[in-house]
Amino acid sequence: MDDSRETKTVVGVRRLKEAMPKPSSLRIITVANQKGGVGKTTTAVNLAAALSMGGLRTVVIDLDPQGNASTALGVNHLENPGIYEVLMGDLTISQAIQKVKGFPSLECVSSNTSLAQAEIELVPLVARETRLKDAIEELVQERINSGEPLDYIFIDCPPSLGLLTINALTSAKELLIPIQCEYYALEGLSQLLKTFELVKKRLNSALKLSTFILTMFDGRTRLANDVADEIRKHYPRELIDIPIPRAVRVSEAPGFGQTVMTYDASSPGAVAYMAVAREFADRGKAFDSNVVSINYKREGEIA
Ligand code: ADP
Ligand code: MG
Repeated sequence: MDDSRETKTVVGVRRLKEAMPKPSSLRIITVANQKGGVGKTTTAVNLAAALSMGGLRTVVIDLDPQGNASTALGVNHLENPGIYEVLMGDLTISQAIQKVKGFPSLECVSSNTSLAQAEIELVPLVARETRLKDAIEELVQERINSGEPLDYIFIDCPPSLGLLTINALTSAKELLIPIQCEYYALEGLSQLLKTFELVKKRLNSALKLSTFILTMFDGRTRLANDVADEIRKHYPRELIDIPIPRAVRVSEAPGFGQTVMTYDASSPGAVAYMAVAREFADRGKAFDSNVVSINYKREGEIA
């Protein structure tokens, strides 16, 4: 590891020279895939960080008891209350939300291991599938009233299709699926799609499968290219065809309580996530009309 390039603490606020376009309306995105370790958290936090650097008001809701998104965003999640208390009705999101250091407009609702009980404790509760949705609606309305409406909310799911993920899918307008370009990448996808269809039919007709992102891509391997081709073939419109390379800086960043956007903004992983974020934001300008932009920038983004 090249220690001289390490960033130990975040100083100042990161902003891009060129702002990103605001979405036509608030985008609420659930990042889900019941497989663990496919890049859900990494994608959620880095896209959120990049969009916030582009001037967009962004919130990350950490819905995984492991609290990896909270760790990567450097918020205190072990002592402070978080999404568990919100789901149980003890706090509103506004009472639990924390600012993320180093970004102009990035906030996080943290989670910790107590959330693991929620899968069980939610079962007998009234409106168990819509608890998160109701909490988010309250936050959204509050921000509209205060004249600072939100642009993006990302919900980072645990690696399962239980009640937490159902809550996330019920709350969202979009489903984003990260696909790890490795063995068995597509195994289990049909189960996820079945859950998506079920939630769409029963709980949230507005939900749309909007985005696929290829993670941990190693273009030298045949397998990675085969996985990418498969997604390209079946989801040409939904795929953001800028693969995120497997890159060591991306995996180091959470250990410093950071996203790769502040940890090493010029590293290949950060540059790729920035390009994906810009494309994602461009598509959001016309989210409902299915217009897909093919212009994106890869370099020279960081102010
Ligand atoms: P999930 O949330 O789906 O469980 P993570 O985002 O936590 O997956 O990623 C799993 C592991 O892979 C983590 O240790 C993360 O740091 C690492 N990782 C994710 N994306 C990359 C990448 N592009 N390059 C290298 N390591 C990565
Ligand atoms: Mg995760």
